[in-house]
Amino acid sequence: MKSNIVSVGKDSVDVLLGFGSNLGDRRRFIESGWLSVCGLEGVEPICLSSLIETVAVGCGENQPDFLNAVGLIRTNLYPEILLDKLQAIEYSFGRVRTIRWCARTLDIDILLFGDFVIDSPRLKIPHPLMFERDFVLIPAKEIASEMIKTAEKKFKFAIRNSDF
Ligand code: AMP
Repeated sequence: MKSNIVSVGKDSVDVLLGFGSNLGDRRRFIESGWLSVCGLEGVEPICLSSLIETVAVGCGENQPDFLNAVGLIRTNLYPEILLDKLQAIEYSFGRVRTIRWCARTLDIDILLFGDFVIDSPRLKIPHPLMFERDFVLIPAKEIASEMIKTAEKKFKFAIRNSDF
């Protein structure tokens, strides 16, 4: 898979992850998902934000509400390797990929990966929708306000999300 990494950080970088769940025991899925991430080789956990509850949008009617949280880790894993591991965790919690943004037991997105900018077929970083979503920004500012402030200045108006 070819990545277009246009800026490269240090060996180990701070990475912000978005967690979401709107099926089953949502709190347990998010907290256990976070613990699974903490147990990955090459990952040093820093902290998990509070949980935030929001109405599901963009999925039609009668979708259960979402619980979301944001986690901060430090890692030396290559971004697409981290994505592989996060997707394996999603599947281990019974995630079935159906319609995008709709009902799911556990969704884990890479929001920021240090100051990397990645635009590959599999991975877009910064996450193209992160600056539009209060359920991302509110918990992200709780645990990583400087990182978000810097990213907003750099990326908010620069990233394209039309093809995401
Ligand atoms: P979702 O339904 O939100 O889980 O979308 C997952 C798809 O988005 C996967 O196929 C990923 O390859 C892709 N993707 C692109 N950028 C990202 C990102 N920053 N974090 C997680 N998944 C991403």
